[in-house]
Amino acid sequence: MTMTKRVAVIGAGPSGLAQLRAFQSAAQKGADIPEIVCFEKQSNWGGLWNYTWRTGVDENGEPVHGSMYRYLWSNGPKEGLEFADYSFEEHFGKQIASYPPRAVLFDYIEGRVLKANVRDWIRFSSVIRWVDYDEAAGDFEVTVHDMVADRVYKERFDHVIVASGHFSSPNVPEYPGFDQFNGRIVHAHDFRDAREFAGKDVLVVGSSYSAEDVGSQCWKYGARSITSCYRSAPMGFAWPDNWEEKPAMEKVVGKTVFFKDGTTKDVDAIILCTGYRHYFPFLPDDLRLKTANRLATADLYKGVAYVHNPKLFYLGMQDQWFTFNMFDAQAWYVRDIILGRIAVPADKQVLMADVAEREAREEASDDVKYAITYQADYIKELIADTDYPSFDVDGATEAFLQWKKHKAQDIMAFRNNCYKSVITGTMAPIHHTPWKDALDDSMEAYLQN
Ligand SMILES: Cc1cc2nc3c(=O)[nH]c(=O)nc-3n(C[C@H](O)[C@H](O)[C@H](O)COP(=O)(O)OP(=O)(O)OC[C@H]3O[C@@H](n4cnc5c(N)ncnc54)[C@H](O)[C@@H]3O)c2cc1C
Repeated sequence: MTMTKRVAVIGAGPSGLAQLRAFQSAAQKGADIPEIVCFEKQSNWGGLWNYTWRTGVDENGEPVHGSMYRYLWSNGPKEGLEFADYSFEEHFGKQIASYPPRAVLFDYIEGRVLKANVRDWIRFSSVIRWVDYDEAAGDFEVTVHDMVADRVYKERFDHVIVASGHFSSPNVPEYPGFDQFNGRIVHAHDFRDAREFAGKDVLVVGSSYSAEDVGSQCWKYGARSITSCYRSAPMGFAWPDNWEEKPAMEKVVGKTVFFKDGTTKDVDAIILCTGYRHYFPFLPDDLRLKTANRLATADLYKGVAYVHNPKLFYLGMQDQWFTFNMFDAQAWYVRDIILGRIAVPADKQVLMADVAEREAREEASDDVKYAITYQADYIKELIADTDYPSFDVDGATEAFLQWKKHKAQDIMAFRNNCYKSVITGTMAPIHHTPWKDALDDSMEAYLQN
């Protein structure tokens, strides 16, 4: 049975799919659920995990959503992200190694929603153009562009859940001399295949995960040298001999990059790993989330309900240590607000005080262990109030702490380690080939015994 309410979900990536699964699971247990319509601009689900070779614009002339590249392997252990209601063992029929490549994780994400049979809830190739709140009617008007029929239409919804991701709209700085650079300049968003840089001297700008992983990919697939440069602090790993870290870039002349410490380096390519912006071109000022990429997002009560209009929700807008299981915790929580099982306080001051408390707690320390534990506590807080299967969040945290340790030991070998599933209790096998030698990242190659 369905309630008369209608709910729009924007995006069918891991967050949006978590929302569909959350509602389906309530329906499975006999609850009346609203009509759910998920709008996805791509022609398939999976969000960033739905790999595309395209850069710039997609087949419809829309900005390409994908920021993932070939040969990407999970940058954290799978034991830190496993769905509590759908284990890796259930999906693959056996336990698998801890750092699966992109295709393997896509298959896993897809497996759960195929089982839940929610594909019909999604309108693919459908771009959300605009969302308006109608104060008098107390609902939203959503404007959609159906790219297949090339038709723009409007529909009304009682709730809107924004699950459009925030690692797609690149932050692209400019440095003096870029317009004259005799080589290739590319943002990580458009980086696709590390083999392009084989035999080249590559500069990676930034010190985040993306700089670390894009540089590692280029190193693995044969770049002659990697130089990475940082603004605040070096990544500080024990890099291979042909990788050096330098302070900030100041300018480029020809192929020569000048750094803040007075040194220079000639490079063939500059890859900007300079981050992403939360970007919602389909939302007006009064509904649009404006936040830094942090653990305590601005203006979201419990990290999900928009304080200025709590009928609007956002999923996955936090900086992410935890991913899939955190999106689940949020999706189950949002579902229960919409089903009337969880009440959101009516007083806006209370909602804002919740945000302020989260911000203050995040700002109390910049220690990494503190940050991981902070996000683990957030997951525990949300799942305590819903029927999302409880799981050993501390055990998942431990997998992350081990991962940090393994990275510090050997940045080019951390993916050769394995961890214990907190869902099934099984230890992952050691992968058959060390990461640096495993050039074929296909699902078939990865799952071989
Ligand atoms: C390079 C890279 C590597 C990563 N590696 C890992 C990793 O190893 N492990 C990990 O756990 N996480 C990783 N992540 C983090 C990643 O953010 C999450 O795993 C996850 O994809 C986030 O899910 P999401 O659904 O919130 O967003 P997304 O995956 O970005 O999905 C959002 C969806 O919304 C759709 N959409 C956007 N705008 C519109 C619109 N206007 N109308 C309709 N649909 C729209 C998009 O097409 C997309 O399908 C990585 C991220 C990047 C960028």
